[in-house]
Amino acid sequence: MQKAIQSDVLVIGGGLAGIVTAIECLRAGKTVTLVDRDTPERLGGLALWAFGGMALVDTPVQRRMKIKDSAEIALRDWLRFGELAEDDVLPRQWASYYVEHSRVQVYDWLTESGLSFMPAVNWVERGMQGNGNTLPRYHVVWGTSQRLTRRMIELMRQADTGNRLTVLHDHEVTELESTNGVTVGANAINRATGQHVQMAAQTVVLAMGGINGSLEQTRANWIQGRPMPASMLNGAHPYANGKLHHLVAGLGAQITHAGEMWNYAAGVPHPKPHFEGHGLSIIPCKSALWLNHRGERIGPEPLVVGFDTHTLCQRVAAQEKPYVWHLLNWRIAIKELALSGAEHNQRIRDHQTLMFLKETLFGNHRLVKQMLCESRHFLVDDTLAGLAAKMNALAGTHDVRADVLQKTVDAFDANFALGDKLYNDEQIRRIEHARHWGPDKMRTCKPAPLQARGAGPFMAIQTQLITRKSLGGLQTDLQSRVLDAGGQAMEGLYCVGEAAGFGGGGACGKRSLEGTFLPGCILTARSAARSIVAGSGLSRA
Ligand SMILES: Cc1cc2nc3c(=O)[nH]c(=O)nc-3n(C[C@H](O)[C@H](O)[C@H](O)COP(=O)(O)OP(=O)(O)OC[C@H]3O[C@@H](n4cnc5c(N)ncnc54)[C@H](O)[C@@H]3O)c2cc1C
Repeated sequence: MQKAIQSDVLVIGGGLAGIVTAIECLRAGKTVTLVDRDTPERLGGLALWAFGGMALVDTPVQRRMKIKDSAEIALRDWLRFGELAEDDVLPRQWASYYVEHSRVQVYDWLTESGLSFMPAVNWVERGMQGNGNTLPRYHVVWGTSQRLTRRMIELMRQADTGNRLTVLHDHEVTELESTNGVTVGANAINRATGQHVQMAAQTVVLAMGGINGSLEQTRANWIQGRPMPASMLNGAHPYANGKLHHLVAGLGAQITHAGEMWNYAAGVPHPKPHFEGHGLSIIPCKSALWLNHRGERIGPEPLVVGFDTHTLCQRVAAQEKPYVWHLLNWRIAIKELALSGAEHNQRIRDHQTLMFLKETLFGNHRLVKQMLCESRHFLVDDTLAGLAAKMNALAGTHDVRADVLQKTVDAFDANFALGDKLYNDEQIRRIEHARHWGPDKMRTCKPAPLQARGAGPFMAIQTQLITRKSLGGLQTDLQSRVLDAGGQAMEGLYCVGEAAGFGGGGACGKRSLEGTFLPGCILTARSAARSIVAGSGLSRA
């Protein structure tokens, strides 16, 4: 083993939370070692792949759209939607901190860092009974989260005046070093060479992401009584596997709310997987019908995206088979189909304004064709009977009877037989409601029969549950210090980002208002850095 690498601050994990912590510590004159398990081109963790949607409160973008948001409204929405319990003291503190500071600590900080937001805010997670976001507050970073991450990496390098930053790639931290209960460093193994490395620091910041990158951990932490599907895809970071959580718990830290997860209801296997079991999350079309394995519409309350992801996941997980079908037509697909992440949002990612507008206004034929070509889970046919045959071929069953599929579609289309004043279908009502908000109207079709002339061909997409974010994590205080069972800060030890459940070990409770994750990384990281610089994590000088 070589001589230990010495620094003031050791950051474990090079995702957004780790990088922001490093920036702020470097700017304050500290020496920093950032150690990451992944390869150099993947520095940035999940944020490199993320879409860049952010729940932000009372911003200039909202004001321009005449949305009157406030910390009070946002906190009410947050606590109600997340069902945070009265004794969730630290998560509640973080929720309050988030809504009060997202404007200055995230929006202003990012715009001052040279980033910008798209001019429209979206209205996501409205709640099944209006119990989610009362108003639109989902902002999208222009350039996606990939641009955000690259900019942060740039800023980290710029803040490194005088060679005060050491970045180790391909290094997995396997142990924490502590002396008399005080964390003093960590040991890592270089996965490329097998070499062991010691790192000593006054302060250690855990930024290793969540737990849901391991399906084993996801299943082990699944809350009893909630339906769990027989199979699911992995949409998280494969190295965010909970190992360090358990290691630190062995030293006295507290893992809380580990069973709370922000998974998604509609994943397909990634056509170009980065790792085994890698899934791609589809943002389902509001106008598509969600069908069970037999091709019957799931009900009695139909599934519709955009209102309550947590409930959607539970409904999908409760199905007899671990997959569902989305039934739609070409007209719906080109207007409504979207995929989560930077990878499939190239117009926003690469600042292609005109192409973005063209595809929004006239339909995104390109994306639909790409998915039909790349993913065998996307099926298309001119007739419902032909589609049923393809669905059965993909599933390897005879579950979908052509006459049942026809009956499902006829029953939905019958809503339109009496004219557009006499609909009586919950999905249509929700679509009409969604279309009242301009940005949603641009991306949601006017309700129409699936068999309308010229709307075809028909399409079916087979999807299953996909894991994403861990809502729980290591319990921290408002300075991001890791707490022990007695609620005392563990000396020299901090935790930020998803590893800390975005603050307090579970700031979102059971549900996120959506887009609270990237801002949660920034808020927890900046709090940690302020505390480190002020010396609040150390009793030794
Ligand atoms: C496709 C996609 C779309 C998303 N879209 C959005 C969005 O629009 N809005 C939003 O708010 N959120 C979104 N998210 C979620 C968001 O990206 C993550 O929650 C956030 O980036 C987590 O950042 P992090 O730094 O806490 O952890 P991570 O990004 O998971 O980083 C953890 C890092 O720690 C490293 N690591 C782990 N273990 C070790 C170890 N033992 N030793 C050394 N290094 C280790 C890993 O290599 C990794 O680089 C999305 C996620 C995905 C995948």
